[in-house]
Parts: sequence; C-alpha cells; structure tokens
Amino acid sequence: MSYVIKQRKKTVIILVLGFFIVGALAIFVVRDTTQFFIEKQAEEVAKIVGTFAKTARSVYTEVAIAKLKSDGSGSHVDSEIHEGYIPIPAQFLKELGRATEQNTANLFHYRPVSRWNIEPTQGLSSDFLKWAWPQLEAQDQANPTGPINWQPISRIEQENGVNVFRYLTADSATSASCVACHNHYETTENVKKFREQAGTPLGKSWKQHQLLGALEITIPLSRIEQVATEQLNRAVLWLSAIFAGCLALIGGVYFLNARLHRNLDSLSWEASHDPMTELLNRRAFEREAESLWEEAVHKDKEHSLLFLDLDKFKAINDTYGHHAGDAVLKEVAIHLRAERREYDLVARLGGDEFSVLLPYCSRDVGMLVAKRVLCNIESIRIDWKGEVLTIGASIGLASMDKDSPSVQKVVEQADMASYIAKKSTDIKVVAYSENL
Ligand code: GH3
Ligand code: MG
Repeated sequence: MSYVIKQRKKTVIILVLGFFIVGALAIFVVRDTTQFFIEKQAEEVAKIVGTFAKTARSVYTEVAIAKLKSDGSGSHVDSEIHEGYIPIPAQFLKELGRATEQNTANLFHYRPVSRWNIEPTQGLSSDFLKWAWPQLEAQDQANPTGPINWQPISRIEQENGVNVFRYLTADSATSASCVACHNHYETTENVKKFREQAGTPLGKSWKQHQLLGALEITIPLSRIEQVATEQLNRAVLWLSAIFAGCLALIGGVYFLNARLHRNLDSLSWEASHDPMTELLNRRAFEREAESLWEEAVHKDKEHSLLFLDLDKFKAINDTYGHHAGDAVLKEVAIHLRAERREYDLVARLGGDEFSVLLPYCSRDVGMLVAKRVLCNIESIRIDWKGEVLTIGASIGLASMDKDSPSVQKVVEQADMASYIAKKSTDIKVVAYSENL
C-alpha cells in the first residue's frame, strides 16, 4: 500500500473517531444541560409557589384578619371554639397547602414546616427536612437589623420510583406581633410540656426576621422531565442528522479524492509508459536516468546502458502482419523485465528499440548482462498460426561515468555501438569506444 493511501486511510480513521468522540461529548453536554434545565425549571416553579403562598397569607392577614380586628374579633389558634374568630395565618397557610395539594393534580405540594411546630405533620419529619433545616438555621442571625437574605435549600430525590424536587425556603418572623405571639406560646404550659417530651429546647424566643418556620415545596419532576426528554430526543435527532451529514460529506470527499488520485495516477502512468509493452517510454527513461547520470558525474559512479535494436523485425511485420510484430515486441518486453534487477531501468525507446540502464554496473559486468539478454531474446519462440516466430537483436553498450556529457549522449553512443553490432554477422554485442 502506498504511503499516500496509508496516510489517507489514517486521516479518515482519525476524522471518523474524532466525530464519534465529538458526538458522544455533544450528547453528554446536551444531557447535562437538560438536567440543569430541569433543576432550574423546578426551582423557578418552587419560587413562584413559595411567593404565592406567602402573598396569600399576607392578604389573609392584612385583609381578613385586619377587618375582623377592626370589628372587634380577629384570629385565634382555637378559632373553632371562639365565635367570630378565624384561624391564625399559619393555620390558614397549612389549610391552603392541603387544599392546593388536592386541587393541583399532583403538580406540586407545599406545607409550612418548622422545628418548633407542635403539629406532628409539620415537624422535621423527613430526611430532606432533617438535612435542609440546619442549613437554614446556619443562615440565621443573632440580632438581625433587617430581613435576612435567605438562600433556599433544595435537592432532587427519588420518591416511589419518580424524581421529585424538594425545596425549603425560610419563612421568617416578619412582624413584631407574630414574634410576640410565638414567644408567648413558648411560655405556655402545653408547649413547655410538648418541648420536654420532644426533647426540643425550652424557652425559645425569636427576634423579628429570625427563622421561625419554612415552606417545604415538593415538585414531582415527571412532567418537566417529559418535556426535557422530548427536547433531548429532538437534539439527539438533529445531532445524529448533522453527524450523518458530516460523515457522508467526509465519505464523499474521500471518494472523490481517491478517484482523483486514481485518475492522476493513471494519467501519470500513461504519460510515462509505453501502453503496449508497459515499459518506460523514452521521455520517462531519460528523466529517471538523469539522477543516475548526475551521480555518475558528481560522485564518480559507473553505470552501463544497453541499446537493443531487433534484427529484421520489419520482415515479421511484412510476413505475418503487425499483430505478429506486436506479439514479438511484447514478448521481448517480458523477457527484459524478467531479467531486470530492482533498480534497473527498462524502456521501449520506440519502434523495435529498447534500452536497459544498469546502475552501478561496470562495462565488463554490463557486457555479461548484455550477452545474457541477447541469449534470452534469441530463445524467444512464439507460436503464430502454426508458424514459430524467432527474433534476434543487436546490442550496443555505453558506459555512463564522470566523463559522460549527458544521458542523451550515452544513449546515442550505445545506439552507435548497436549499429556496429547490426553490421556484424557474428558479434551481436558491441561496447562503445571512441575509435569505433
Ligand atoms: P534492422 O534489422 O536493420 O533493425 O531492420 P528492421 O527490420 O528491424 O527494421 P527497423 O529496425 O529499421 O525498423 C523498425 C520497424 O518496426 C519499423 C516499423 O515498421 C516497425 N514498427 C515500429 N513500431 C511498431 C509497432 O508498434 N508494432 C509493429 N508491429 N511494428 C512496429
Ligand atoms: Mg530493427
């Protein structure tokens, strides 16, 4: 396999691998972003629910309770037994939470919770509350001078096989009257007894803005996850389409490139070879011989160049036709190629003329090779329509050394020597010399 093809294959493998890695990374990023989106969406909904609940309680306090107060009653923790009174704001919030849970078809739940609540369902009953409440307490201040910038605590949990978003936002002691009321409760006998039984510290006293309670908001994530999964599927579909498009593009470019290279290779082969014998043509032969000539001249190397002209070739054409002549030319080429060593150059210079350049080969060795080549050619037997065709050749040898003026000159010298051999009836291999 050629170096270029190997490099091309390597490039394609790297590109395909690169695309797979980028694709996998993209899907990971989309998944991660989707998860982030789900959490953010849930957090936003939780914020809205918390704000809405607190607003509802403020309206209840400022409109309903204020009106009753101006009429002479108000709110009472035991409102069922006190005629004209309505539940205190915290009880209202709890009822609002219960009613919402029943009416919102499992969209979200919220309820007021507190470490200090004496109602068992509103204490720190779950693992989440036991984990989150201390984190709210850690944000509390000993002597707050204004509202505290409470940071809500949240996490995603599994509940009955589905993901739920749990969120705890502080519900601080906003008004002085609220603080006074709660501080008073802590001093009552009932509450003291409850605190003792529950192991909660006695004598708790709040200052305004401190952590009194919190709102626990729970959002089942199935709906948000469904939307997010649809989005994710769309993103994966698009990514896959882009990915497949890119692969097709790379494949197309690779295919066109390979075809272009094949065409170029074939064009370059055609430009440098004789199509019938598939040997080098004269131009390519001279070009490739050029570097050997330079080596001979500059590095004092010696090469031997053989020039072959077939004997009485025309007679074959004339007697048996051009196809027979072609068959002889092809067979001569096969024999020359079979004789060739790895670095030898073998060419058809034109007509019935061939040349063999033997690099790093002295004149004496060159003469031995020439005689062997002649022997081979003379051994050719072609069965042509019942006749046996044979052929001879006249071979001239010229040395390519530091005194050689050019490749063409060396070919000319070998041609001259071959001409001498042609004239001779018994000496068919002649080495060129000045006095020929
Ligand atoms: P000599 O012994 O003196 O070398 O004469 P020859 O008959 O071999 O003829 P010469 O070398 O003078 O000329 C070569 C001939 O080869 C001339 C031409 O008709 C023929 N020839 C050239 N190209 C082709 C070819 O591609 N196919 C065939 N069949 N003949 C060709
Ligand atoms: Mg000839």
